[in-house]
Amino acid sequence: MSFIVAMDGPAGTGKGTITSLLSKEMELVNIDTGATYRCVALYAVKNGIQLEEKERIIDSLKDINIDMKNEEGTQKVYLNGEDVTKEIRSKEVTKIVSQISSIKEVRFAMVEVQRKLAKGKDVIMEGRDITTYVFPNANVKIYLDAKEEERAKRRYIENQEKGIEMTYEEVLENIRKRDKNDREKEMGALKIADDAEYIDTTNLKIEEVKDKVKEIILRKRGK
Ligand code: C5P
Repeated sequence: MSFIVAMDGPAGTGKGTITSLLSKEMELVNIDTGATYRCVALYAVKNGIQLEEKERIIDSLKDINIDMKNEEGTQKVYLNGEDVTKEIRSKEVTKIVSQISSIKEVRFAMVEVQRKLAKGKDVIMEGRDITTYVFPNANVKIYLDAKEEERAKRRYIENQEKGIEMTYEEVLENIRKRDKNDREKEMGALKIADDAEYIDTTNLKIEEVKDKVKEIILRKRGK
């Protein structure tokens, strides 16, 4: 039986950092589900497919093959065999990914990819609908939250470190738009599962959030 840690929350709450740290410390396979939607968005950007061309986006799914590998402690994302780990974080992709992920057919296909990547493994998985839809019976369910200005600040600093050119205002605007779209999605909308542990990270350092999450996992794993 595999052990599943599911974590949801809006952008900039630290989900990616926490899952990456804990996957190493607790020997859990890290699956970043946002990366799967980002791959579909990147494919559209690269092939000149516009957001309005829904049928072309749906049709492109058959040509998209996504894989994730852990290489020297960091997670790498592959789209049709090409390492796109950095490219999927670009401004162009970030701008359209939420709308791309609102297309029902895209969600069905990506949820299948995500469940396949997790199959038979002990995993820590983060996204928007993991605790509610992808793995509603996960062993551990956590919802991370924070005030939007704090989330934008964190994402802005992270982008600077990664060499992604976006002003603080652009980041805040993007976070607001994505949050709204993610919460209002017809399928897979971001919401707090009734049985999820809720953590407000606004005034917490990343180490403090990590310790809280780790303690919850240890408590449930011991059962
Ligand atoms: O987590 P990340 O910012 O990389 O996710 C990119 C986008 O993918 C989110 O804004 C959201 O619209 C979408 N997403 C989703 N369901 C998930 C994970 C991400 O709809 N499980």
